[in-house]
Amino acid sequence: LELEFVQWLQQNFSASAEIELGIGDDAALLNIARDHPDSSLVITHDTLLDNVHFQLGKDDPRRIGRKSLAVNLSDLAAMAARPIAVVIGLALPKQTDPLHLAKELYLGMQPMLVDYCIVLAGGDTNVWNGPLAISVTAFGLASTKQNWRRASALCGDVVLVSGTLGGSILDKHFDFEPRVRESLYLREHFEIHAAMDISDGLLLDLHRMTAASNHGAIIDLDRIPIAQSARDLLARDVAEGIADPRSPLDRALSDGEDFELLLTVSEATWELIQRDAGCPIALTRIGTIIEKSGLYAATDDQLEHPIAPRGYVHN
Ligand SMILES: [Mg+2]
Repeated sequence: LELEFVQWLQQNFSASAEIELGIGDDAALLNIARDHPDSSLVITHDTLLDNVHFQLGKDDPRRIGRKSLAVNLSDLAAMAARPIAVVIGLALPKQTDPLHLAKELYLGMQPMLVDYCIVLAGGDTNVWNGPLAISVTAFGLASTKQNWRRASALCGDVVLVSGTLGGSILDKHFDFEPRVRESLYLREHFEIHAAMDISDGLLLDLHRMTAASNHGAIIDLDRIPIAQSARDLLARDVAEGIADPRSPLDRALSDGEDFELLLTVSEATWELIQRDAGCPIALTRIGTIIEKSGLYAATDDQLEHPIAPRGYVHN
């Protein structure tokens, strides 16, 4: 498998100017320090497992491959980093045609690698008597002038989310576009305080952000941008007679795998963002960072209604 596969990779995944030495040697060489003196190297890693993140046999291997790459790019986007290279490890099940499966996974990643000018810098491929596991390490460059952190939310900040939330299980969890270009635009044009991607549900991730920042947040539940798929899931659940179906709002608050951006900015920056006709992404104000820890629902009665970081909160 190894030699034939390496040759196939070399033929199908071309190098770029940024890489001095790619696939085929013991390790890859990238000229990062020389070419990008004002950048930090950003590194992220995610492992996707059969029957946990996807179902081999049910899901198209190309979609599985694409998703494995996209989740890592979403984490780079959360750091406002420009992706430059990836290293990919595959543990392929013996029962399948391992070479064919490996190629399908890589072909699923290829359009996105090309689209974002990302180098396949190397990796490792093994066949074993276990389920498919895909392990991706992604490298990016972030400007040292504005580093995005989840711990940088300030009291009084406006909380923003990109796109719409909830119901990603219908399709988006495979076919989402990581917010790479959008985050680079925002980094370029605005001062972002705290940032992360929403991978495990809005409430849980906002809880992580506010906890890391030693603050809390008041959330305006009426302003949550709910995805159409969250509404479609309710319609489906009702049609199927499922008892106590989850509301679209609940899905928007706690469904995982939205892969949207969660940001905090000052009121002044929010004004600037709203006036920017060139902003490539829809951002919605969903709340405000407060001094006190915890998440709370905004209400007319001025009372504090705590929201648990995950689960059913509203009807
Ligand atoms: Mg993340």
